[in-house]
Amino acid sequence: MIEKEYNSSADRMPVVFVGHGTPMNAAQDNQWSRGFVTLRDYVPKPAAILAISAHWYVSGTYLTSHLQPPTLHDFGGFPQPLYELEYPAPGHAGLTESVRELLGKEHVQLSEDWGLDHGIWSVLRWMYPEADVPVVQLSINRNLNIVQHYEIGQSLAKLRDQNVLIFASGNIVHNLRDAITQMRFDTAVTPDWASRFDEAVKQAILAHDIEALLSIYPHTADAQRAHPTPEHWLPLIYAAGAAHEKDHIRFPTEGFDSGSLSMRNIIFG
Ligand code: ZN
Repeated sequence: MIEKEYNSSADRMPVVFVGHGTPMNAAQDNQWSRGFVTLRDYVPKPAAILAISAHWYVSGTYLTSHLQPPTLHDFGGFPQPLYELEYPAPGHAGLTESVRELLGKEHVQLSEDWGLDHGIWSVLRWMYPEADVPVVQLSINRNLNIVQHYEIGQSLAKLRDQNVLIFASGNIVHNLRDAITQMRFDTAVTPDWASRFDEAVKQAILAHDIEALLSIYPHTADAQRAHPTPEHWLPLIYAAGAAHEKDHIRFPTEGFDSGSLSMRNIIFG
């Protein structure tokens, strides 16, 4: 893995990991969306955002190159007003090119088709409601192993010195079957495995224990229940890769929605 130099300059942009939760948070004024609003207080306004979301988990490494990326309503069965929300942040050809160079042009393909998925815009519409910060999205390549995901995060760290916000969106605990059952029965009981896993991840982040972070999933029973599939786990690995051990760690929001969706947000730096 690449050794990173630490730039202690106040100009160094923090890295944000956000637990986005249900698409309803895009529209509802609730404790989670209010938490998304406060994220902007932790971060200087960036020149651009490089976003990584659980919802662009595909066979290949892609970057959005659309100069006006469409708002993707990539969910089903929600109330109609949610499908009418738009987040018209522009793309950024220069950032797309920089990221492509950082990751190696031969490894990255450009996508004109993908826009911004709800893992990104359901949060950014609260954080930057004016949609005036350009956003480029990087896919999560399902064919890579956990160390390779981490190494991409490491490669992206340089962007922090260029006024670019690295914004990773998933959930530290994401077991939809459990959450939907709880919604159906109108309960909100956090299972022990969910709080244990969330706490274990919190401690690994605080200790900057990368070895623990890269090995915890999927090797423990709690991890398997927290993530029946990996896509909501992996964005954190990108954020951790772009973080530095000297970064100050803060958790602006903690807690669970629908019992088992961890809504923990993390600021690195
Ligand atoms: Zn999601």
